[in-house]
Amino acid sequence: MIIDIPNNSDFSIHNLPFGIFSTADRSPRAGVAVGEHILDLAALAEHDVFDFNTAVFEKDVLNDFISLGKDITKRVRKNIQYWLQDDYSVLAGKPELFVKQSDAQMHMPVYVGDYTDFYSSIEHATNVGKMFRDPENALLPNWKHIPVGYHGRASSIVVSGQPIRRPNGQTLPKDSKTPVFGPSQRLDFELEMGFICGGNTDMGDTVSTQNAEDHIFGLVLFNDWSARDIQKWEYVPLGPFLAKNFASSISPWIVTLEALEPFRVAGPTQEPKVLPYLEYEGQKNYDIDLEVGISPEGAEETVVCKSNFKYMYWNMAQQLAHHTVNGCNINVGDMMASGTISGNEDDRYGSMLELAWMGTKPVAMKDGSERKFIQDGDTVTIRGYAQKGDIRVGFGEVSAKVLPAK
Ligand code: CA
Repeated sequence: MIIDIPNNSDFSIHNLPFGIFSTADRSPRAGVAVGEHILDLAALAEHDVFDFNTAVFEKDVLNDFISLGKDITKRVRKNIQYWLQDDYSVLAGKPELFVKQSDAQMHMPVYVGDYTDFYSSIEHATNVGKMFRDPENALLPNWKHIPVGYHGRASSIVVSGQPIRRPNGQTLPKDSKTPVFGPSQRLDFELEMGFICGGNTDMGDTVSTQNAEDHIFGLVLFNDWSARDIQKWEYVPLGPFLAKNFASSISPWIVTLEALEPFRVAGPTQEPKVLPYLEYEGQKNYDIDLEVGISPEGAEETVVCKSNFKYMYWNMAQQLAHHTVNGCNINVGDMMASGTISGNEDDRYGSMLELAWMGTKPVAMKDGSERKFIQDGDTVTIRGYAQKGDIRVGFGEVSAKVLPAK
């Protein structure tokens, strides 16, 4: 092996995710995470090992690289995998090709033109339906027929590490008919994963469930920050707006669909049967362990939730097929988030709203405090990895601290 990779590393030889990094003396550029290091693709390209225009590696986003298509992006990853394991490869004796992750700053990996947020966990949709609407009929009649989603805001998607400011907004106090304005009192995280589109389509084109994976470059961890009190007052009749668009945080490394191949699993049975354009063949869910930790200012972290991406009722292929069935076009870099990923146990819920059940069951923290929602100074961290035998493919983390409202 050209470079040591710790045994438990998220960034094993099986992973090799792509991201954008910079250091004190390297401008933002494309890299691949390898253990605790980053392979500098712009520097590697100077050795004439690629047969395409490698200016794509000098860009400050990966869109142009992804646009080269899967034939090329898959080959780059496979070549690096091979070269890392060959002591006589082009990577040998060139320490300048690697930088330590601890010396690097990570940036947004792609320019996100459009962002869509789905609502594809049946456990989450059921919990929210119980709390916000009707405990007896929690799921709306359309839910098992449509991968429900809404168009979110791309401008406020930021990379891990960037602090998030508590939003101000309108809320309706309990037992009042008149709204008030001020900082949200019910700031929440949402544990999600997002996929990044890997191909453009024209208006009028559709993507089938069968072809959907050709249009998915890879996945990141996604924290869809939410202000529950603003949401409750504003969401009727058109759905989420200012309760959601102030911030979403993503992990910096895009784990390719190819790296996740060993972790495919079957999804839940869909009953009633879905319409033909949403039918699919094969295993389209992925077994990815997820957890959320909250660190109060200056205190130890408490893990408040453990969930898994495999619980999703609607899979990514169905989401993309549904998104495009009306001819809506998609572009490279578009972000499609899963919706909150909750499991069927009350410590597997992917939001504070559900974990503390609208504030009625506060969550105990290791420092003796408790949480109904997220407080100023809290750092929320989502981690995720897949493991099968010796093969580990991880996402690292998405982490952000909450600052007081302005
Ligand atoms: Ca969401």
